[in-house]
Amino acid sequence: ANAPVNITITGAAGNIGYALLFRIASGTLLGPDQRVNLRLLEIPPAIKAAEGTAMELFDSAFPALGSIDIFDDAKQAFEGANIAFLVGSMPRKAGMERADLLSANGGIFGPQGEAINAGAADDIKVLVVGNPANTNALIAASHAPDVPASRFTAMTRLDHNRALAQLAMKAGCHVTDVDKVTVWGNHSTTQYPDLTQATVKGRPVTDLLADRVWVEEDFTPTVAKRGAAIIDARGASSAASAASAAIDHVRDWCLGVKGYSWTSSSIMSDGSYGVPEGLISSFPCTSENGEWKIVQGLEIDEFSRARIDASAAELASEKEAVASMNLI
Ligand code: NDP
Repeated sequence: ANAPVNITITGAAGNIGYALLFRIASGTLLGPDQRVNLRLLEIPPAIKAAEGTAMELFDSAFPALGSIDIFDDAKQAFEGANIAFLVGSMPRKAGMERADLLSANGGIFGPQGEAINAGAADDIKVLVVGNPANTNALIAASHAPDVPASRFTAMTRLDHNRALAQLAMKAGCHVTDVDKVTVWGNHSTTQYPDLTQATVKGRPVTDLLADRVWVEEDFTPTVAKRGAAIIDARGASSAASAASAAIDHVRDWCLGVKGYSWTSSSIMSDGSYGVPEGLISSFPCTSENGEWKIVQGLEIDEFSRARIDASAAELASEKEAVASMNLI
């Protein structure tokens, strides 16, 4: 058997954590034969709740689950970590100034980056889920100079999955019949879910793309604002689908993208497709040997160009703001 994989989850006692931990422990992430050790990081007031979740995990008698440890100290929590899900963050609250939001997250993701730098395993892979995810990932990466920046990623997989599901519904097919969808840019309302390359059962979606009212006024805003629609419907946020997308992201990163030509992942830009280097932005990606690879050579039309540039500009302004506050 392989050595156990150490997985650190921050914000483990929150809503996403509650869904995520059971998926990981049941073997959905790395397969039923891969033993996983869970290392839960929480802030002190949430430690008791994390202990409750750990009791339920223990009671599930999962064959794939090794140990469960709970920490309120980042240095200890990331010790030996092979994979880290950074879920806990300070999301934007109504009336909150951007500077307050960014500085609160600098106080979380800076020290977590340092702890990863100090103690994580050499093969550490980090997925940031907590918002603003792309910029939080950038903050963590900038505090981990000894870890390749390519190991810090942010989640746009939920947006990608939402785009697949919306397109499948419109086309009247199963989600697995849909391929070559890309979400570009920031995990925010400026994200660009791109159907220009999309196929249904191997055929381009030319007719759907010609329906600009559907693309621009229905599909695009539905994908970008789906989180708010779910809060409205269930009175609570989209925690289970977020956890499921986080599993998809890390599984594909570790084991390769299967069943689709590519997926969408927010990774450190190398300047591909005119997205400035040094921004963590979403791209069409495959994964080989545990490394994300940007799919090259896709044609970018004028509409797409403007949307990709606008989201990259938002990422650049977030980066400038955290740089001016010495958070990166
Ligand atoms: P959730 O578990 O529901 O969400 C956690 C983060 O994920 C939020 O920033 C949220 O941002 C983000 N997120 C990304 N995608 C989604 C999505 N599709 N749906 C919902 N959220 C999404 O938050 P809780 O408040 O339930 O739990 C957070 C936990 O984190 C708490 O237990 C808290 O104690 C802990 N925490 C831990 C820290 C640490 O370990 N150092 C630091 C800060 C908090 P958004 O709201 O913008 O969607």
